[in-house]
Amino acid sequence: MSFERLGLDPILLRAIDKCGFKNPSDIQREAIPLALSGKDLMASAQTGTGKTAAFVLPALQRLLTPSAKRGAGPRVLVLAPTRELATQVSEAVRDLGHFARLTTGAVVGGMPYGPQERLLRRPLDLLVATPGRLMDHMDRGRVDFSRLELLVLDEADRMLDMGFVDAVEQIAAATPDDRQTLLFSATFEGSIQRVVKRLLREPVRIEIDAVTQRHEAITQRLHIADNFDHKQALLDRVIRDENGEQALVFTSTKKGADELAEQLNQRGIRSNALHGDMSQYHRRRAVEQLRNGRIQVMVATDVAARGLDIRGLALVVNFDLPNNPEDYVHRIGRTGRGGDTGTAVSLIGRQDWPKLARIERMTGQKIERTVLEGLEPRYGEPRSNHARRAPGKGRRGPSRSHGNSGAPRRGRALSA
Ligand code: AMP
Repeated sequence: MSFERLGLDPILLRAIDKCGFKNPSDIQREAIPLALSGKDLMASAQTGTGKTAAFVLPALQRLLTPSAKRGAGPRVLVLAPTRELATQVSEAVRDLGHFARLTTGAVVGGMPYGPQERLLRRPLDLLVATPGRLMDHMDRGRVDFSRLELLVLDEADRMLDMGFVDAVEQIAAATPDDRQTLLFSATFEGSIQRVVKRLLREPVRIEIDAVTQRHEAITQRLHIADNFDHKQALLDRVIRDENGEQALVFTSTKKGADELAEQLNQRGIRSNALHGDMSQYHRRRAVEQLRNGRIQVMVATDVAARGLDIRGLALVVNFDLPNNPEDYVHRIGRTGRGGDTGTAVSLIGRQDWPKLARIERMTGQKIERTVLEGLEPRYGEPRSNHARRAPGKGRRGPSRSHGNSGAPRRGRALSA
């Protein structure tokens, strides 16, 4: 199916063409016609599925017709959990709204208040905001939502995880009751149900590429690491084996991210860190460095990497596994985007096995155990994990089960 069939305005079709999108993705095919018809939506779609354009396009189409209401404030509000995700949405709005004359802006934390206050005093077509900073402005009486027609909650589960549930509800309560609401979330479990009940009216539910489904474009594998030094040696090899392709490496702590980036630099791999303790300026600069190829590796924590959209990122490495299995899916979704293929490698130290078990239980998939020549682990998989191995996989240690066959053994694509 083509974008023309979705009922989009020619101005938007031109921009879609300029972005190089040939056909709508699944979520776009499902969500765009429903959103254009004015329905409330609750959609589960992972990052990398094209979900941003799935709400940006109908939002822009609505904005092509002038508002009947005069005054200040936005007609469309997109709430996103982090500054990085808000930036990604703003970029999609800029690109897809290229031929439409729209006034848009962002209100996010870590930036000066003055320009944001001036922005909020104007009639705005579309505003992208993080809930904390928007609430600051609302508390000071600086936000007028009387013209608001459409509210989008992007990565709503993450916003709630970050403690923004009250802020999101208060912001929604300040907007007109007859607004349209589109909610995107990786899951619909837990407190998200309450938000759906309170904020959406007879929503249509769309489920695309749910968290437990397969990331077909991403090859996943893991290497067992005996200790920290072994992990570092594995990381170096994995990065070097990608022949200069760019990589995103995840650590569990901010300090760990700083240290690992520093150590990689010392070993001649150009790197920078990205985490929540860095100023907005330094975070932006790090992302720019990755975008323009000044660095090969970004070492990041989960919160900072949320929403990061780097075209052509070939490799994601979990230096530490995340505590939350859903974060694993989000992390690996940073590669294999927009039709590319990618590789996700996890380095499994002793403390990572229980986390791995939870990830494999949630995704229902076993990640292929692989061994690099010269970096074989001395210890195998713990017995408790062997007991969970899939039938037919045998009970031998991973180093023996795959042999020492030279070049890294590539994990099978999970679709295989
Ligand atoms: P998202 O899931 O919104 O984070 O988008 C993931 C990536 O896919 C972004 O780089 C988009 O620019 C790209 N993208 C979105 N829609 C399409 C499409 N229909 N065809 C190709 N790429 C797309």
